[in-house]
Amino acid sequence: MTSITVPSAATNASTTAPTSGTTTLPPLTETRDQPMKAFTMPTLPEEEATSPPPSPSPNNNPGAQPLLPTTPDTSNVNMNVDTSPITANPPHAPASYNITLVTPRMPPQTTPSTNVNMGDTQNALANLKQCLQSAKAGNSSQNLYQGFLRTPLDRYTNVTMPAVQIAHPMAELEGVDKDQIDEWISYPGMKLLAIPFDTDVLNLANHDCLCGNFFAAVNEITNSNEASVSAPKPNQEVALRRRAPISFLLYDLTPPQYQLLLARSIWSSTSITFRVMPLDLVKPNFLFQIQGFTTNITEQVRNLVANTWHDTETREFITSVLDRTQENKKLSLSHTIGSFLDSAHVTRLDTRDSGNVLAPKYNIYAKSDLIPNDTTWSRLRAYLANRQYVAPMQGQGTTLTTPFHCGLCHGIDHPRGLCPFPEVEGWNGPKCSQSPPNRSSNSNRGRHGRGRNLRA
Ligand SMILES: [Zn+2]
Repeated sequence: MTSITVPSAATNASTTAPTSGTTTLPPLTETRDQPMKAFTMPTLPEEEATSPPPSPSPNNNPGAQPLLPTTPDTSNVNMNVDTSPITANPPHAPASYNITLVTPRMPPQTTPSTNVNMGDTQNALANLKQCLQSAKAGNSSQNLYQGFLRTPLDRYTNVTMPAVQIAHPMAELEGVDKDQIDEWISYPGMKLLAIPFDTDVLNLANHDCLCGNFFAAVNEITNSNEASVSAPKPNQEVALRRRAPISFLLYDLTPPQYQLLLARSIWSSTSITFRVMPLDLVKPNFLFQIQGFTTNITEQVRNLVANTWHDTETREFITSVLDRTQENKKLSLSHTIGSFLDSAHVTRLDTRDSGNVLAPKYNIYAKSDLIPNDTTWSRLRAYLANRQYVAPMQGQGTTLTTPFHCGLCHGIDHPRGLCPFPEVEGWNGPKCSQSPPNRSSNSNRGRHGRGRNLRA
């Protein structure tokens, strides 16, 4: 056994956890939208539990909401927008007109396969040959370049996009019939989930049309007719509510096509805007939201969260997690959890309640992919979301793990009116204002079957 010496700075300090080794966990300090720092990890023996302890209910706190998504927020919120889009990175500068532009331009954070641009490169060479022949025929060089630069990928916004925060790793498959998920897994080739923006997808009557839109978009993006798309079948519960799941399946993809589609993650043209993500479970960075504080000083909330995450109670919880971990993995896991806690950052949403009363809300994020084990991550998120966050002169805040459901991007950390995507440079997708009800999206492409093979 190891031991942890718990600092006395916490508001809820209690007893020292039994263990070996000594740990000092000073309070965190940080600036707005920057990771919290100064966490010293327990020096416990080794990593990751092979059989993680059962995850507690995420709703011990009466204020916390379940991890399941709620009815999408399709309202336009009366608000003051925060200083910048949540977690948005600066968009790329406009592309320069250079002959190399025929290669798809990838966001800098991705590492697409070296083969992903082969199809477009071949197209570009064909275009170049055609343009050169045109030039030989006497056309101006300006027309030559203009013709050469037009590629299908130019129709899609090519900047670094904000991240879409989902409720939990399985969130995008919720509402899909389980038998169909099994069937999807058996489909050939590489697979991606594709989630269209806006609320049309919530109406099952629009799915055939959306299926056709994906059919055309994937064909256009990959310059291939070898991929397929399948519409989701609602499970009984969703069907009874007359709603529809939001995730379609792109399958029979080749590795280069898979990498190309993932490279931009979000594809936005005037015809369709959608997000792609792997079928693998992806843990969201958004952990929870704190409401109820009548202060605009984000730094205060950040310090409050940092102090809570490093108080005696939290240390005891971490110790309990480590105690259920294999001895030779405790040290590694303790460092991992420390890095996860240190990666936290806070953003403020300047929303207004009824009566135009300013009601700021604070979103708490951390780098969830640092925690390799989904069960451990779920336990940590549930525990942290259910802690009491009591600010001096403010009282106790209310925590929510699914505070919103944006009707535009389907993210859960902001309302539609604060969706960051319409502010993206060159955005081609839907705006914050709600779509007309039951609008058949991009119906100019006509109707198609519920499953669509691009070879068809
Ligand atoms: Zn949104």
